[in-house]
Amino acid sequence: MKQIYQQTPEEVLKHVNSRESGLTGEEVKRAREACGWNELAEGKKKSIPQIFFEQYRDFLVLILIASAIISGVLGDMESALVILIVITINAILGTVQTIKAEQSLQSLKTLAGPEAKVLRDSTVVQLPARELVIGDIILLEAGDMIPADGRLIENASLKIDESALTGESLAVEKSLDTLSAEVSLGDRTNMLFSGSFVTYGRGRAVVTAIGMQTEVGKIAGLLKSTSEKQTPLQVNLEAFGKKLSILILLFCGILFALSVFRGEQPGNAFLFAVALAVAAIPEALSSIVTIVLSFGTQKMAKEHAIIRKLQAVEGLGSVSIICSDKTGTLTQNKMTVEDYYIDEKRVPASAIDTMDPAQRYLLDCSILCNDSTNENGVEIGDPTETALINLGSRCGIHAAEVRSTYPRNGELPFDSERKMMSTLHKIDGENRLIVKGAVDCLLERTEQIWTKAGVRDMTADDKEKIQKQNQEFSMEGLRVLAFTYRPLPEEHLLTAEDENHLIFLGLIAMMDPPREESKAAVAECIRAGIRPVMITGDHKITAAAIAKRIGILQDLSEACEGADIEHLSDEELKALVPNISVYARVSPEHKIRIVRAWQERGMIVAMTGDGVNDAPALKQADIGVAMGITGTEVAKDAAAMVLTDDNFATIVKAVENGRNVYRNIKYAIQFLLSGNFGAILTVLCASIAGFPVPFAPVHLLFINLLTDSLPAIALGVEPHSSEVMNEKPRAAGESILTKDFLSKIGLEGLIIGIMTMVGFLSGYHQNGALLGSTYAFGTLCLSRLFHGFNCKSDHPVLFTSRFFHNTWLLGAFALGAVLITAVLTLPGLHLLFKVESLNLVQLGQVYLYAVTSLLLIQALKWIRTISKKNGENNGSK
Ligand code: ATP
Repeated sequence: MKQIYQQTPEEVLKHVNSRESGLTGEEVKRAREACGWNELAEGKKKSIPQIFFEQYRDFLVLILIASAIISGVLGDMESALVILIVITINAILGTVQTIKAEQSLQSLKTLAGPEAKVLRDSTVVQLPARELVIGDIILLEAGDMIPADGRLIENASLKIDESALTGESLAVEKSLDTLSAEVSLGDRTNMLFSGSFVTYGRGRAVVTAIGMQTEVGKIAGLLKSTSEKQTPLQVNLEAFGKKLSILILLFCGILFALSVFRGEQPGNAFLFAVALAVAAIPEALSSIVTIVLSFGTQKMAKEHAIIRKLQAVEGLGSVSIICSDKTGTLTQNKMTVEDYYIDEKRVPASAIDTMDPAQRYLLDCSILCNDSTNENGVEIGDPTETALINLGSRCGIHAAEVRSTYPRNGELPFDSERKMMSTLHKIDGENRLIVKGAVDCLLERTEQIWTKAGVRDMTADDKEKIQKQNQEFSMEGLRVLAFTYRPLPEEHLLTAEDENHLIFLGLIAMMDPPREESKAAVAECIRAGIRPVMITGDHKITAAAIAKRIGILQDLSEACEGADIEHLSDEELKALVPNISVYARVSPEHKIRIVRAWQERGMIVAMTGDGVNDAPALKQADIGVAMGITGTEVAKDAAAMVLTDDNFATIVKAVENGRNVYRNIKYAIQFLLSGNFGAILTVLCASIAGFPVPFAPVHLLFINLLTDSLPAIALGVEPHSSEVMNEKPRAAGESILTKDFLSKIGLEGLIIGIMTMVGFLSGYHQNGALLGSTYAFGTLCLSRLFHGFNCKSDHPVLFTSRFFHNTWLLGAFALGAVLITAVLTLPGLHLLFKVESLNLVQLGQVYLYAVTSLLLIQALKWIRTISKKNGENNGSK
């Protein structure tokens, strides 16, 4: 049987039961039932029981279970039962957290998945690539990822980068020709393969294989489950957690030896030491980071920023430079033609006369050398080009009519490197190439000029007039396109060389107003210590005019062109970048150099991009940001974050979210570590002072259950505030566990420890060891619950509305307080929890000690805030 590439397009279409107009809805349904979804099978997912039992994988938990069972067998059934129940509840909580985090990461993956343009029932639709079926007709243009394997059925200079599959780094040209012999993958020139991407041109293909049947699927079949890469913060915390665990284990070991030495029963002493280790080791540290990060990404997705790489969330918090495109990101990308310049005259769009042959010719050229459409109000294509189509409609000229009168016989598509595009048509019996593009680029290639009296050689004076007009338009912030043309011989095969020896026809100037929110977003960036930089393919004067309006630039001297930095060495560029706020006429290679120069200066750079050539710069940047609407699939694939509204303000919002997420993670860690430290201090203190151990093992486990993950997660979802934008960006590479942070943890832990000890002593003096440990248990548990409120902010929150604004934290507090109060007061629970029943006065005392720890820590925050303010005031004097 013939291979697909040995069949003609018609044969392939027949083979897959399709046609050029695409499949019908019914056919798609049937094909899906037969072949499934277009996706690569991921490694087997873990089942819920698997996740549940993984919670017990912890060595200490296993030892604890073993020692609980032993103590049960030896007679202490109550303790054994409570310990097992507490551990099971803990495992259930852990399972729910893991599943939730996985679900939110999965939904993010779906959001950020690739899309494809497909022809179905003769209509072009944009779909998630996973919905493709065999027989679908896909439409491709530069920057698209190939979503499935397919046979070309239409080709306009397609070049494909197949390096992912074949290792060949040069893009390969494709053709429609049917091959006669059997050839290897790299030589199947009429086939497209999933995983490669279009670097140039346009085309259509019929899908012949999807999912695991594609060439890349056959390789992927060998892959096992894909494990998520950890973020630097997770790695950092895991390493810290390990060191801390060793310290705690050592401490517990010494404590065990000491207790046995003092005559304690080894079994009891062992159980206590293990319970203390379980309670003190912050095992939730890195999983809380995952949960908070994934909640953060969900919030960001709702606010139009889709995070593709989890690292980006924490990276966003330290971004110090945002390099942004202009068109569509800082501006609205809603273009309207304002003026023509033709035959040495400036003609406002409202006064265009279609009876004037020159103006009509320019209008026709702008419709012909154009890929956009506007049918029944549905605009498809580049807004620059849609503006030209819309101008035609405003003048009563329909694009479809002009295009059918002068069909396109060839084309050289637009790319941001050449900054021009050309199309070939038969006009007035002549084979004519229409070339439109950036004025400066086209003027270099222009030799003649069209005038009413006929075409003549272009003089220096003509050129100067055009440049002056271009300058005038640009200073008004208008985007200018030049239109030129040239005759070509019949049956001519187009090459880039043909875009020379051109005849100048006219200029078209269009307005693309800044987005309303850009100015405020730029101001916010500056307030947050972030430098906004505009990098655009547009003209320097136009770019500077827009940049000035939104506050990125003050003076034209802060603008330069790509050509100006071309001859600079990397060192020179590094010295120059702080002085430049606008880079114009930039090509994608310049973008990489600018990012690197800033990075060399120790800055964390976010960079936007949309085109196929932007992918390397997006990868180079610390946070590559792709445009969701106008961006190519290749750019999205390379980016760490995708903006679903292409808006600069969304990047600033994402930075704010990133800073808030980081802040919340910090609060959660502060809560966990200081509380655990308080517990250890109490035990240490009691043992040094020669008192009996202040807690029973079940107390420690109960405290661990109630006051570990729940309030920590609640702190992780603390409502975001714009306060974080008043601070400077976090230094690159700064560890979360700074000296200052650790000293705060130490001090707060100390206060909790002291109050717990006070509680213990007061109980102990009233009625001996059991009441002492009941008091210590109650005080530590409640102090830690109250401590959640301390960790909401670096400033005091006690008498502010902020104290109450996190309902999750209020819920975690209420649940904990009700349960501990029940344990301390309900007679039925005393035996189980090894406590003495408290009367109302005693319960009040326990609450008082816990509240005192809250008050003391709040007072500490108040002193810190005041002294920081004084320091700042003295500094600014
Ligand atoms: P930004 O880089 O901020 O998105 P931009 O859209 O101007 O701005 P490019 O798309 O690289 O950047 O375009 C560079 C120049 O090429 C434009 O200033 C314009 O002169 C010209 N140009 C843009 N679109 C087209 C097009 N469809 N056909 C021909 N020339 C174009």
